[in-house]
Amino acid sequence: MSFEKVLIANRGEIALRIHRACREMGIKTVAVHSTADADAMHVKLADESVCIGPPAPRDSYLNIPAILTAATITGADAIHPGVGFLSENAHFADMVSEHGFTFIGPSADHIRLMGDKVQAKKAAIELGLPVVPGSDGAVETLDEAQKTADDMGYPVLIKAAAGGGGRGMKVANSSEELPNAFQMARSEAKAGFGDDSVYIEKYLGKPRHIEIQVIGDQHGNAVHLGERDCSLQRRHQKVLEEGPSPALNKEARDQIGMRVANAISKMGYSSAGTIEFLYENNEFYFIEMNTRLQVEHPVTELITGIDVVREQIRVAAGSPLSFSQSEVEFQGHAIECRINAESSVDFRPSPGRIEGYHAPGGLGVRVDSGLYSGYSIPPYYDSLIAKLIVHGANRNECMMRLRRALEEFVIQGVETTIPLHRQLVAASDVMDGSYDIRWLEKFLEEQKR
Ligand code: ADP
Repeated sequence: MSFEKVLIANRGEIALRIHRACREMGIKTVAVHSTADADAMHVKLADESVCIGPPAPRDSYLNIPAILTAATITGADAIHPGVGFLSENAHFADMVSEHGFTFIGPSADHIRLMGDKVQAKKAAIELGLPVVPGSDGAVETLDEAQKTADDMGYPVLIKAAAGGGGRGMKVANSSEELPNAFQMARSEAKAGFGDDSVYIEKYLGKPRHIEIQVIGDQHGNAVHLGERDCSLQRRHQKVLEEGPSPALNKEARDQIGMRVANAISKMGYSSAGTIEFLYENNEFYFIEMNTRLQVEHPVTELITGIDVVREQIRVAAGSPLSFSQSEVEFQGHAIECRINAESSVDFRPSPGRIEGYHAPGGLGVRVDSGLYSGYSIPPYYDSLIAKLIVHGANRNECMMRLRRALEEFVIQGVETTIPLHRQLVAASDVMDGSYDIRWLEKFLEEQKR
């Protein structure tokens, strides 16, 4: 069972990544693109391409009718949504199936369930996953918020039920700060997501962000592929990810991994997904589940040797997983650097023409990028332009290799975050693996002084 032609409803490096998996499986690809992306690498490499609209994402990469039309006229069997854009849009998943295509992702119901954070947390509890202590569902009134927070103890975090990207989140350090934080979280949630429901959680002081990659099929099988540590974040955006986490030993990994794999199997979840946790004082706390492929999936691919995208496509076509849990072996260490077209000092976007490009290579070095010399990075989209992922027999070898690869990487014509990554791999806390989710912001503050 497989597909003959897959439409890739995305752009940039992730569209290219999906194209590569399809080609290796003998599947033809259809690229869709906005007018701003006519010269993009994913368009050049695809078997066919369809322009779906003007640059603004709502008119092109979020334009459901245009994407479905492109799938119809090219005769695609399935649609891969990639990451971001429509990848966690349950309505899109429904429309794709209603129009007779296969959605390469989980069921629309699973997307919907995990997209509402209050429901997701309830589901996590039912599935036996540890969660952050907090309110029992949404908190409607200030009185209720005050009571919950006073009982739990400060600091607390008020979070939007419909939240994403760190928006609609406010910390209250005391009972006095609560009314203001509650109102602000509500209005930010209303403005950002059109839904002002919020809930309350204990605010963890120095956690790490550790997430477990999972994949399930339509036959009830589910496995975990170990963890990624994504604690190095700026404004809740991941900057560098690694696996295995320097904070976990084999026993802790096996334990949380099995718990998560059981949860996924119980849910009947089919596709790749990620369960995200905060980790503090040897305890895991569920924060959310991403019902899609993730940007940092290559870290997992390098330590397991498993092609996550190929497996995701196979299970969407109805095939059983091609391996069992006992066949998953973890080898060595991998680190991914997200390279953005932005200033490494103030993070202002830096779109523009690439005047020179040289990607690093050699043993254990992988670059996922659609860049080429002469390409113009359009100003309309996410600033991620390349991912450098390095593998080594152990963390030390991986670090040395990463340092070497970052020295070789040349991107001229625009500013990039390569200089930041060079600084990071030279920082002693990063070398030791002793960092939490607040470390990078503090490091950046210190650099400014
Ligand atoms: P979003 O969907 O907006 O990204 P998440 O729930 O995934 O929201 O949280 C994003 C980030 O916010 C986390 O990676 C972490 O840095 C921080 N965060 C979330 N919940 C808590 C908490 N209870 N305590 C401390 N920090 C938190």
